[in-house]
Amino acid sequence: MSGIVEVDGLAKRYDGGFEALKGVDLSIREGEILALLGPNGAGKTTLISTICGITVPTDGAVRVGGHDVVRDFRAARRMIGLVPQEINLEPFEKVRDTVAFSRGLFGAPRDDAKVAAVLEALSLTDKAGSQIKELSGGMKRRVLIAKALSHDPKVLFLDEPTAGVDVELRRGMWEVVAELKRRGVTIILTTHYIEEAEAIADRIAVISKGRILLVEEKDALMARMGRKEMVLELS
Ligand code: ATP
Repeated sequence: MSGIVEVDGLAKRYDGGFEALKGVDLSIREGEILALLGPNGAGKTTLISTICGITVPTDGAVRVGGHDVVRDFRAARRMIGLVPQEINLEPFEKVRDTVAFSRGLFGAPRDDAKVAAVLEALSLTDKAGSQIKELSGGMKRRVLIAKALSHDPKVLFLDEPTAGVDVELRRGMWEVVAELKRRGVTIILTTHYIEEAEAIADRIAVISKGRILLVEEKDALMARMGRKEMVLELS
């Protein structure tokens, strides 16, 4: 059975010649949480942005929900929610409007009930009327996720959602991700942290120097290698 995301021989050579992806194959199952683990510069962001159709591959293909992301970008993109690494929110905009506007960008009709449901899912209901600048860092990250979910995507990509945040916030983010999985969203997240992959993933993919080194069920992988060996593998 094919996955909700199918990546086939994906390669990316940036202008200047650097090969960030060197033939990546990956099949992502509907409803799973896949952690994409790798050191700095491994190609995690490049892989995510190529899967989402934002970066154009040099070779290979990606299908999301059966749609080719290059040839059928609009249909594929509608299935995808993307949470970028950096917080790119308008400080004076209200939380509710931020999510509603994002929904409009995907051509989804105005639907106040839908926006309210997304805010509820992220425990942001009581912040709906707040301006972004009034929120804590953790709340801003939740707004980014609400934005990415505004048009009801099937697959959510989170690019290092806990980079540079403290342990408490990190755990809060893990709870958010677990809740979204319960609601049926397929989740792919990139991380440097083995303990993060261990805490929330169903499967772990390890990427290094533009190649996928392994993709395995988390439990089987941790039993086989243990955390120490994983650290060595990543260094
Ligand atoms: P990090 O964990 O540090 O965010 P990453 O695993 O997400 O790293 P990428 O950001 O995908 O890695 O970068 C992979 C490689 O491609 C790096 O060596 C980076 O310098 C290079 N790279 C990324 N974007 C570009 C670009 N626009 N032009 C040229 N090289 C790039």
